[in-house]
Amino acid sequence: MIYADNAATTRLSDRALEAMLPWMQDAYGNPSQPYTFARRAHKAVEGARAAVAACIHAEPEEIFFTSGGTESDNWAIKGAALACKTPGSIVTSAFEHHAVLKTCEALERTWSLVHVPPTPEGIVTPLALLGNMPDDPRIVSIMLANNELGTLQPVRALGEIAHKHGAIFHTDAVQAIGHIPVDVKALQVDLLSASAHKFGGPKGVGFLYVRKGTPLLPYADGGAQESGRRAGTENVPGIVGMATALQERVDTLEDCRMYVQALADALLARLEGLPFRRNGGNAAHLPGLLSLSFPGFQGEALLHRMDLMGICISTGSACDSRRTVMSHVLRAIGLDETAAEGTIRISLDAQNTMEDVEAIGEALKKIVRHA
Ligand code: PLP
Repeated sequence: MIYADNAATTRLSDRALEAMLPWMQDAYGNPSQPYTFARRAHKAVEGARAAVAACIHAEPEEIFFTSGGTESDNWAIKGAALACKTPGSIVTSAFEHHAVLKTCEALERTWSLVHVPPTPEGIVTPLALLGNMPDDPRIVSIMLANNELGTLQPVRALGEIAHKHGAIFHTDAVQAIGHIPVDVKALQVDLLSASAHKFGGPKGVGFLYVRKGTPLLPYADGGAQESGRRAGTENVPGIVGMATALQERVDTLEDCRMYVQALADALLARLEGLPFRRNGGNAAHLPGLLSLSFPGFQGEALLHRMDLMGICISTGSACDSRRTVMSHVLRAIGLDETAAEGTIRISLDAQNTMEDVEAIGEALKKIVRHA
């Protein structure tokens, strides 16, 4: 099997698994309990918090553990909205992940929603944000890396504009963390979402970075965990596994980035001569993510043909793979329906090899040339 759908999820790293095991059956205490056995779990959670914070240049008290990217996005936007004295406008882009888009829609009864269109290259420009800024912006949420296209957004410049207009700035960095350097101080974001399973950590755990002083209320009520801001018993093995995976990624980031970029370049070179276009290909990019449109083909059929050859890829985003509707991301960048229908996403990671790339290239050539 060749796995080339790393933007959907990644393999759990060996080191992360090893780090997680003791917290399942041996040291399984509830970190909120005061006795020695449970204090060990508490210490492990706090150690993980410090490690995660260091990886993104944050302070430990600015990291809040969650159940993943979806919860982090929900909490960031709903929590910031709850903290506002009066509702106003939420500004987001038209090609955010559904975890952001649906969260914003859920607030639409009392809040106004503004969707900034990206360019055909898959970028939300500062000019577009300025041009679409409403009179009463309270929250601006623009992702760091798009999950279907891999394009990187000028988050620092977008955040500066949001702040100048008095709004809180959130970025969904789920696809970026562990793949490109992320420094919350340099980016000057107020809120940032991350998810462990996108960078070699376990599924069902993530974090929200909350810059000190950012007004944010809890959006789930319950216990006093996470400094009283995120209720629920901490997923100790998951948190420890996430911190281990992130540390591992950050320690090898530059080498991995160059290696994965070389794999992606080699694949594109192998596909030369085939009738396809790369979406968002000229913009700054995640290293291993390729969105390729084969007009006249069905992305879903390509996916299944590749599957029969033992190769896992995706059509558009993972969440859209089972739907036949046109991806909102591809629509947002103005792709015509024929090209959109024939779009696949190949996402490579450091686990992949040049042999994988050769096999993917050969498989695609065979399918497309013999259609
Ligand atoms: N945001 C982005 C950009 C994503 O790609 C994903 C997952 O695909 C999510 C949020 C949701 O993350 P999770 O699967 O951890 O809920």
